[in-house]
Amino acid sequence: MKIAIAGAGAMGSRFGVKLQQAGNAVTLIDNWADHVRAIQTNGLVVTKDGHDTVIPMTAALPQDVHDTFDLIILFTKAMQMDHMLQELKAQLGNQPAVLVLANGIGNVETIERYVPKQNIVAGTTVWSSSLTGPGHITVTGSGSISLQAIVPDQFGDLDHIVETLNGAGLKASPAPDVLAAIWKKAGLNSVLNTYCTLFDCNIAEFGALPNWRELTAGVLDEFQAVATAANVAFDAQADTDLIAAQFAPDKNGEHYPSMHQDMANRRPTEIDFLNGYVAQLGQKLAVPAPNNALLTQLIHSQEALHGIA
Ligand code: NAD
Repeated sequence: MKIAIAGAGAMGSRFGVKLQQAGNAVTLIDNWADHVRAIQTNGLVVTKDGHDTVIPMTAALPQDVHDTFDLIILFTKAMQMDHMLQELKAQLGNQPAVLVLANGIGNVETIERYVPKQNIVAGTTVWSSSLTGPGHITVTGSGSISLQAIVPDQFGDLDHIVETLNGAGLKASPAPDVLAAIWKKAGLNSVLNTYCTLFDCNIAEFGALPNWRELTAGVLDEFQAVATAANVAFDAQADTDLIAAQFAPDKNGEHYPSMHQDMANRRPTEIDFLNGYVAQLGQKLAVPAPNNALLTQLIHSQEALHGIA
């Protein structure tokens, strides 16, 4: 398959490597010029278990891409997606399938502004990766993907996409209700990412707080109310259990969530697509979500204090 990874940071690069190694023609498209140049010049360096492998890959800035693709996998951060889609208008004219696995709620709404609904596949993934520097990722462990076409009965050949992902060892499976899966992951991220960033702690340290349950309920009870009003399946108790399951050191306890890393690296966070999305949707649906609104303000204040635009 001819595949473009649009947004080839930590995750996009990891997926790109695996898909290329399985025999697909992969192009990494990214707006970070130093990163693109490093891959073009030296190949992508992948560090795993302390061992570096250099993988030659095709990489380009969006404006330098003239090819068309069967599949575009969008892996920007949520707030970079609109801009990336604008830059890929020519490639989107060819009607490729577009797959989005980025975190946050609202990505499908962004994509629908540029791509016919029947060409969009959305999902969630528990693969992980870190961008160590330009042209360099560090990867650990393995993961899986749940995905679903947005209009299941109108999407061309989802099986082919699932087979392509599985051929690359990405462990993809169709989800019966992808919107519920996206909200479930966003609920987890809106607790762990947001509090660990505000408290400057890792997941185990958050879990050791005597009031972690109250803090969690403050976020997820509002998720529950807004999801119900929006006709999205959401189970605050199941999300709380999922969060508690991350605390053990041999699970994700020692991990600093990506929002914490973004703040530490002075990069914008995805808060508007997590707590911020629920606060705004709550306002639209007349379902108050003051805790999520306040947490969004706190993260934006922290960004401002760090000079993050
Ligand atoms: P990332 O920050 O590594 O990359 C996203 C974009 O930001 C890329 O275009 C990248 O080139 C650019 N970027 C990163 N550092 C930069 C710098 N210093 N200067 C200029 N540009 C820079 O993002 P990611 O971690 O791959 O995440 C993509 C999506 O996947 C997000 O929605 C994220 O929440 C989600 N996700 C990430 C992980 C993970 O382990 N990283 C796991 C699951 C889901």
